[in-house]
Amino acid sequence: MAHSLQPHRRGLLLAALMLLVVIGWLAVFGVTLWSLHDKALDDGFADARMHARNVEDHLTKTLQVIELGADSLPPDGGHASTGTLNQSLAVMLRPSPFLRSLSLLNPDGRVIASSDPRNVGLPINLHGFYPEAGLDWPQLRIGTPWHGRDLGDARPCAGEPAPPSAPGFIPVMRPVELKDQPGWWLAALNPDDFINHFSELLPVDEGRVQLLRYDGMLLLSSHPDDIPGRSDQAGQVPNRLEQQEFGDFEQRLSDGTQTLTAYRASSRFPVVIAVHLDRKYILGQWLADVRGLSMIVLPILAALSVATLLFWRRHQRLEQQRAELERQRRLTSSVFDASSDAIMLTTPSGEILSTNPAFEHMTGYSGDEVRGRNPRLLASGQHDAAFYRALWNAVIETGHWQGEIIDRRKDGSLYTGLLTINAVRDDAGRIQHCVGVTSDMTERKRYEAELLAAKERAEAAALAKTTFLATMSHELRTPMNGILGMTDILLRSELNDKQRRQIGIVKSSAESLLTILADILDYSRIEAHGITLKPSPFDPVETIQVVLALFAPHADKKSLTLRAETLEPPPGMIVADPVRFRQILTNLVSNAIKFTHDGGISVRVWSEPANSDHEHAMLVVTVMDTGIGIPSALHESIFDAFVQVDGSHSRSYGGTGLGLAISRRLAETMGGTLGVASTPGLGSCFTLRIRVIRA
Ligand code: ADP
Repeated sequence: MAHSLQPHRRGLLLAALMLLVVIGWLAVFGVTLWSLHDKALDDGFADARMHARNVEDHLTKTLQVIELGADSLPPDGGHASTGTLNQSLAVMLRPSPFLRSLSLLNPDGRVIASSDPRNVGLPINLHGFYPEAGLDWPQLRIGTPWHGRDLGDARPCAGEPAPPSAPGFIPVMRPVELKDQPGWWLAALNPDDFINHFSELLPVDEGRVQLLRYDGMLLLSSHPDDIPGRSDQAGQVPNRLEQQEFGDFEQRLSDGTQTLTAYRASSRFPVVIAVHLDRKYILGQWLADVRGLSMIVLPILAALSVATLLFWRRHQRLEQQRAELERQRRLTSSVFDASSDAIMLTTPSGEILSTNPAFEHMTGYSGDEVRGRNPRLLASGQHDAAFYRALWNAVIETGHWQGEIIDRRKDGSLYTGLLTINAVRDDAGRIQHCVGVTSDMTERKRYEAELLAAKERAEAAALAKTTFLATMSHELRTPMNGILGMTDILLRSELNDKQRRQIGIVKSSAESLLTILADILDYSRIEAHGITLKPSPFDPVETIQVVLALFAPHADKKSLTLRAETLEPPPGMIVADPVRFRQILTNLVSNAIKFTHDGGISVRVWSEPANSDHEHAMLVVTVMDTGIGIPSALHESIFDAFVQVDGSHSRSYGGTGLGLAISRRLAETMGGTLGVASTPGLGSCFTLRIRVIRA
């Protein structure tokens, strides 16, 4: 059982293994994709950080340049004339394309000198700068972005979107010492230069770079939709700044863009650079990788899945076949085990492979004892070498042998078996196995022998009986004929009436005894030697008339009518045994007269076709009487020898009970039948059919 389950388990294991491989592949694929996804995000953050650092560096340097400008004012700056100062500022501005103008303001905010002389005298609102502190704090402070080209035509923006391509600047301010009083150094920072630089660094579809004030206000952005002057344009950056001066995180900006954001505050100035990489763009690269990988992995997985499925289905089919084979094997083995015949399976060379329980029962050898041995261990020595040679030749040539064989049991006793050997061949016709089935015939043989002996005994007894009867009746006939002869002589001599009557009784008794003896002799002969027919042509109608004429005196004596009738179609001349025909007829008419007291007897004759054979015909004769009839229970047995309806008949009617038995045997020998239909009290009708040749 465990052995038979192994292939099943192996198949299941293989299928499970293939499934595991598919799942493993899927898992590896998923993990790879996920790690690629993470890597893409990590790389994105690294890029953003790198951009933030570079831009912050660039910005800090630019602002340093502005600060240096303030420091490089001539020491007598406060004493120089406005015109001279204006010129000095214009000279300083020239190498700085990122500045619109440079101006000096008195402590109230009025322009006292500027690289653009038009600015001189303009009042500048000093509020809105960050950090908001007095002249005694010597650091750079950043103003709100202004709309306009320069101080003269500009105003601080209030967080509204700028008109498209409208110019703007960012005022940057720090205190300076002018003569003996402090004043302000004001630079108008040109955002376009930064925006161009940022855009080159990071195209708009990949992300944006923002310059923020430390308080979170947007100063400029590489993204055209961002609105300078607002504090909500960099998402969470201002909040994060409170905890850390640089960092990165993932967020959603106010316009809904999902970004990887890195920010970095300037090490020296109150500004921050925020770099927002578009997450969608970053993952676009990852998606391209996913697609590429999927093109390779998914077909492999599909192929593997199909292979698994096919394998599974094939395995299922094999499993079904195996189950069916197993069922058949069990069926065969149960037949093998349950058979009452000894079965032995051998290799073509005659090595015994297995035997069934009946084999052990029949031979006394167990399966283990004979396995691997040759069947000749059963040889009894009762057959010569030629017998075994013929046996194996038949098996090899025709694949079959059957016959009686005498074998020897383990205990040395002999048994007779009917052995059937069949060869089992493979597709190429080579003998694979031989199956020998032996049914034990010892019992049957003994039974047959007993039956034969009993039959011979019975036949001998029957022969002795009939021989005895024949001898006896023959022996009795001789003295009876002597008695009859002598009574005839006596009857012809001179006798008185009394003597004549007495001798007459002796004669009729002797005659009826002779008839009985004739019947017994006839029956004995038939029993012992059968009947030999002597066919010759005759007219049955004529025979009937002769017989009836013979019985006419008897009928007259009992006042019975005797009638013969020929029906259509008449039989005509026929060929059959006329003596035997007459014997049957005589017996039937004699019985009819004997058992009828009133009425009469009528004999009818006709012919019938015999199986559409024109040469032959069936001659039918019925003998009908109005006599005492026969009970239906005896309709068959009266045709047995020595059977009479009533034992008392033998006394009142005489007879031996042999007539009908002889008649039926004769009718059957003549290819026909003899039967009766009868009702007690009404009469009987005997029907004789015999097969005849039309003459
Ligand atoms: P037997 O006439 O010598 O006794 P059969 O063999 O001819 O022997 O007849 C056997 C028995 O069948 C008769 O004893 C009689 O009882 C019965 N039997 C035969 N023919 C008739 C008949 N025509 N009517 C009534 N009984 C009959």
